[in-house]
Amino acid sequence: MRKIGVLTSGGDAPGMNAALRAVVRKAIYHGLEVVGFRRGFHGLIYGEYAPMELGSVADIIHRGGTTLRTARAPEFLEPVGREKALETISASGIDALIVIGGDGSFKGAAALEGAGIQTIGIPGTIDNDIACTEYSIGFDTAVNNVTDAINKVRDTATSHERVYLIEVMGRTTGHIALAAGVAGGAESILVPEVPFELDHVCERLHRGVRRGKLHSIILVAEGVRSAIDIGKQLEDLTKMETRVTILGHLQRGGTPTAFDRMLASRMGAAAVDLLRSGCHGQMVGIEAGQICATPFAEALAQDKPFPMDLYELATILAI
Ligand code: ATP
Repeated sequence: MRKIGVLTSGGDAPGMNAALRAVVRKAIYHGLEVVGFRRGFHGLIYGEYAPMELGSVADIIHRGGTTLRTARAPEFLEPVGREKALETISASGIDALIVIGGDGSFKGAAALEGAGIQTIGIPGTIDNDIACTEYSIGFDTAVNNVTDAINKVRDTATSHERVYLIEVMGRTTGHIALAAGVAGGAESILVPEVPFELDHVCERLHRGVRRGKLHSIILVAEGVRSAIDIGKQLEDLTKMETRVTILGHLQRGGTPTAFDRMLASRMGAAAVDLLRSGCHGQMVGIEAGQICATPFAEALAQDKPFPMDLYELATILAI
């Protein structure tokens, strides 16, 4: 192993820069050369790459987003696109590739591995929807961003004695909604993993009013359905004044938390160590505080379990 490549792909996640820094510096520490591909698989297809030095990753550990840029690259789904990517890989002279991204990016990485390229994945997505790792890079920052927003909405909700629905990201999963809902003390948390009756949500609202609550906050994961629709239905059913806030991309921005920077630094270094020890075709993860590795095929075949114990606790605490 003499030279490795690295790219960031899919949705950006705060902490990707810290992972990039760790990959580049750990590799150079061990005498390897590093090449950075820009805009995810797009850079592989169109030959956009450049050598990375120690200074290439200076002053980025605290920055959100990704300095290598990221993209969705639909061409990579086609054999022609993947063929071009293999030509670029060959021209760049790399012996292995580290892909930082979500499950879609890991499918791309697994396809490259299948074509004979030694590949390692680092989970970087705010959604935390990748199996075989308790956390993905960016999730903690997103949860903190949402919790901060809940605190702010709570001030106005109390002042006006209203019901507030806050719609959060997570694609088809409710991990962000659950974690931020618990941390922010939401009255109800609506997630795709747990079916719910609107009547029960109404009942919880009425119960809150009876015991003197000045406001209610309901977190809605985007994978459930539009918080605007749910808000209208709740207003019709309860006659309570409701407002909806859709946090959107605010959740993804800002400086990564210390947790995400630590996680990214450990995962980035572990990815280089795996390649140096001859392991590839795997994703890095963290379980019970320990860095681990799982073959792509095994990780991609599973859905990440939803923490029902935490969901039940949230329901009890918001009684
Ligand atoms: P996030 O979870 O933040 O959305 P992601 O990595 O899941 O990140 P995707 O848009 O699903 O984001 O995937 C990123 C890129 O990975 C795609 O644009 C495509 O180039 C590649 N990719 C996705 N699925 C596959 C697949 N089945 N085979 C090959 N490449 C894929």
